Amino acid sequence: MASSGIEIEGMVFDAAAGGASGAAAGHPRALTPELTEDDLALDRSLRPKLLEDYCGQEKVKESLAIMIKAAQQRKDVPDHVLFSGPPGLGKTTLATVVANELGTNIRTTSGPAISRQGDLAAILTNLEEGDVLFIDEIHRLNKMVEEVLYPALEDFALDIVVGKGPAARSIRLELPRFTLIGATTRTGLLTGPLRDRFGVVFRLQYYTPEELARIVLRSAAILDVDITQDGALEIARRSRGTPRLANRLLKRVRDWAQVRGNGVIDEDTAAQALSFYEVDCLGLDAVDNRILQYLVVQFAGKPVGLSTLSSALSEDPDTLQDVYEPYLMQQGLMVRTPKGRQATARAYEHLGMKPPEGA
Ligand code: ADP
Repeated sequence: MASSGIEIEGMVFDAAAGGASGAAAGHPRALTPELTEDDLALDRSLRPKLLEDYCGQEKVKESLAIMIKAAQQRKDVPDHVLFSGPPGLGKTTLATVVANELGTNIRTTSGPAISRQGDLAAILTNLEEGDVLFIDEIHRLNKMVEEVLYPALEDFALDIVVGKGPAARSIRLELPRFTLIGATTRTGLLTGPLRDRFGVVFRLQYYTPEELARIVLRSAAILDVDITQDGALEIARRSRGTPRLANRLLKRVRDWAQVRGNGVIDEDTAAQALSFYEVDCLGLDAVDNRILQYLVVQFAGKPVGLSTLSSALSEDPDTLQDVYEPYLMQQGLMVRTPKGRQATARAYEHLGMKPPEGA
């Protein structure tokens, strides 16, 4: 099993994710929404276990609660589910919540960890009736492996070819009934046949500052951190709508408050600490601001292609597309036009510059 890269109740950790490529001068980046090593320990203690602990995404939660209840009443397994949305919004958490609510085991793996058909076959044959199989970054499964998944999802069956050449024949193995939960940052990269095999697709949204403040207060209570409502809201406003970042910033601000303040996180302390860590009032960090600077100054407000922008910034195009751009667009600071990326009037204002006519 080990060779398949599967982990039970674990996380697949990408050591490069928290990489310092965009490190703000002097500080490791506080705002990378991908997992860092620090997050792993934090995740274990803060990850909500049940739907009632999971803040926000109300519509998604309600639909899941209905699905789970209906399946339980029918003594059946729920439909296969796909969660999409930027990193750190709670896709993995929701998968574990679903398994906990169902009272079943969750097996966790990821698209890139399953490189061969045999890896997936090993995972599938080790499932138990009713289990949840969670595949993170499911858009990165290779096509050969996907082929094995189709009959497993549709008929709970595994087709195995025995023998070689003219004597080869295919036998069908029955699998236990299970629920696949896939997570992706890019629904558009999923192949049509795979996407069609999910009964439901949920797109997770960025959280509002009020929802994030509730998450910060909950985490502060677990970590025994002294924080005011306004302090939580200040952290929430600068966490770019992402719970993982809210929890991470809480930890940073706690350290700052302990060493430079009086240990209590109020609005002022949170604002000072976050400015120290170079997280601005919109939650943008040095890399976000560099992106805006490039669009506005270096490229003089003209549309810029993804590859040009990523080489100018020395950032990976995928990271740019999955992590930075969605939030800049959501904040109305950047638009994607058919000709390329372009800064909006709000971006100019954010940089303290006068927008050109017609921007
Ligand atoms: P994703 O899989 O989308 O990258 P995760 O599920 O790993 O994101 O979430 C990152 C962290 O954020 C989790 O460890 C959890 O502590 C926290 N988190 C995410 N969503 C919520 C939520 N709705 N309520 C409370 N905490 C959350």
